[in-house]
Formats: sequence, C-alpha cells, structure tokens
Amino acid sequence: MTDSGEPTQGFSTKAIHAGWDPDPQTGAVNVPIFASSTFAQDGVGGMRDGFEYARTGNPTRRALEANMAAIEGGTYGRGFSSGMAATDAMLRAGLRPGDHIVIPNDAYGGTFRLIDKVFTQWGISYSVAPVVDPDAVAAAMTPQTKLVWIETPTNPLLNVGDIAKLADVAHAGGARLVVDNTFATPYLQQPLSLGADVVLHSTTKYLGGHSDVVGGAIVTNDEQTDADIAFLQNGSGGVPGPFDAYLTMRGIKTLSVRMDRHCDNAEKLVEFFSAHKAIETVLYPGIDGHPGHATAAAQMRRFGGMISVQLAGGRQAALDFCAKTKVFTLAESLGGIESLIEHPGAMTHASTAGSLLEVPDNLVRLSVGIEDVEDLVADVDQALR
Ligand SMILES: *Cc1c(COP(=O)(O)O)cnc(C)c1O
Repeated sequence: MTDSGEPTQGFSTKAIHAGWDPDPQTGAVNVPIFASSTFAQDGVGGMRDGFEYARTGNPTRRALEANMAAIEGGTYGRGFSSGMAATDAMLRAGLRPGDHIVIPNDAYGGTFRLIDKVFTQWGISYSVAPVVDPDAVAAAMTPQTKLVWIETPTNPLLNVGDIAKLADVAHAGGARLVVDNTFATPYLQQPLSLGADVVLHSTTKYLGGHSDVVGGAIVTNDEQTDADIAFLQNGSGGVPGPFDAYLTMRGIKTLSVRMDRHCDNAEKLVEFFSAHKAIETVLYPGIDGHPGHATAAAQMRRFGGMISVQLAGGRQAALDFCAKTKVFTLAESLGGIESLIEHPGAMTHASTAGSLLEVPDNLVRLSVGIEDVEDLVADVDQALR
C-alpha cells in the first residue's frame, strides 16, 4: 500500500499500464501516435490539457514519460531523441564552467567522447575512476565535483558498482549521483531506491527492445532537477517524436518477459563459454567468481543479457569470432530481441583508443537475444572452431 492507500503495483503491471488509461472518448487501449506539432487553444493562453507546441509537450511523449517515471520508481520522467541527447541535457543541467565530473574508467564510449571532446571546451574537467571501488571514486572527487556519473554493470567490461555506497560517496562530497541504467533496466535494478539522484537511459536498447527506435530518458525524484531538465528539453529540443515515443512505450510493455529470457539465455551461454578453451575470461556479473557478483546479487534482480569474453587467441581470434557467427549479427548496439556480437576496441569503443578508457583488444561483447538458446549455443560453438 502507498501512503494514499492505493495498492502498490508490481513491475509488469506498471510497465503495461502506467502513463495511459483507455481513452475516455474512443476506448483506445493504446496511446495514439499524436502526430500534431501544435495544439488549438481555447482563447489566448487557454491550453487544453497543458499542450501548446509539441517540442514542449506531446500527449504520446507525456504517456511515455509518465510510464518511465513509474517503472523507475521515480516522480518525474523526461523523454529525449536519443540516450546521448539525454546525457547532453543532464551534463548541461548539472555542470557549469569550472565544475568537475567523475566518470567510470569504462564509461559508454559516446558519454566519454561528449565529455572529453565537447564539455572540456566549456570549462568542465573530468576524472575517471573504477566504479567497483568507492574509495577510488571518492579520491577522484575535487571540491568542484558536482556530478558522479556511473554505469553498472559497465559497458563493455561489465564491472559492478555499489549504487548505495557510491551515492553516499557523491553526497559526502556535495555532488549528485547519476546512474546510466541502460544495461540493467529498471526491471533488474532501480537506482533511485538505492540513493541515486538521477537515472538516465538509452531507451534505444532494452526498453525499446526491438532495434527499431532511438531514444533516451531521464528520471528523478527531485523537482528542481526535473525543472532544469524540462527547461533544456524544450530549450534545446532534443525530443522524441510521437512515433518514437509510441514504439518505446510498446517495447516497455514486454520488458519483464524479454529480460527474463535475455537473462536465461545469457546464463546458458556463460556456462558454455566458461568451459571453452578458446575463451580466456568470461565477464558476467552472475558468475560466482566475478568481483562484482555479491554487489550485483544484492542490488539486481538478475544479472542481465550482456556478456563479454576475452579470447585466448588475442585480437585476431576476437575479430574472427565476430566474423564467423551467423545467428549473432555483427553490429553495434544491444538490448534488442536479436542477438548481436561486436568487437568494442574496433567498434563501439574505438574512440577510447589511447585513453585511460581503452578496452582490451581480445574483448568481444555479446548482446544475448531471446532466440532459442540451443541455436545461440550452436552458433558460438561453430564460430569458435
Ligand atoms: C547506447 C548507450 C548510450 C547512448 O544512447 P543512444 O540512444 O545511442 O544515444 C548511453 N549509455 C549506454 C550505456 C548505452 O549503451
């Protein structure tokens, strides 16, 4: 029960229902794609239901935003045209010239690139620290640190950060903790409930889930943070169109069933890789010996659909493996129903070459889809021969 006496709903119920009730006029059970850039007013300033111009707000987007807030256990949600548009808005909302940010030493390549190439030109400085080590994160902070930015599990090394501890570290230094929750999704992990101030998503990945839409979102419980994000959302205009918002919401409805299957399939593949002599290391938080296993078990429902492996045969073996799979498609991105494989050093994380965030060159990242697991195992088996 909530304070208001309403029954608290489970994750899947919220994912399916939050943000939209059947339309009172037509009974439409799904939110319509409101393809309208402007909205008629009843007299000057007389907006109907708060809509005037679709960069500022659109009913399909509003439904998605309410849904995103509900599934993350937050109060406010804002949709963006991409995860990077959301990241850009959050960085601008949270940092001013002279400020400092701490980012993971294996941050998403695009996040690192945006901070390193663009924000440093506007007087922002950054340090990198391993999310696995709260003391190292604390040590990387300066009196100017306003944001501590983490991913957990990280991309592509699948390191795990203790969100509650990192929130304490950030707050002790007067900074806010932002969690990029793209890899885990709110089904597996809810950072706001663990003390994070802001949750950010590339909804392109598991939330959309079908590799058919690019989007981003920011969720928070803090009214001022939301007001700052809303100002930038409208002021800079990196908004999702109504069709994108619709597709993302459609994806979210099946998030829990898809995630369970992603996790089931990933667990079977981890078993296979762990026993294979061509594989030097399997990186997956669900493995007992994984350094982040205990933390992941405490803060996540399950361990996710992403696996990284290091090939015993080095870079060439990694490239060959990626080239030889047939069910796993060689492509960037992740989180869709279809299995994908990639070489981070040459693809998603090429921009980190030569930096502190450089990834091992024998590393292969797999986004395990929801196909029949026997076909996935057979595919990686033939590709490793
Ligand atoms: C893909 C991704 C992003 C960027 O999102 P886009 O939708 O591609 O702009 C940010 N963080 C993580 C962890 C991602 O995987």
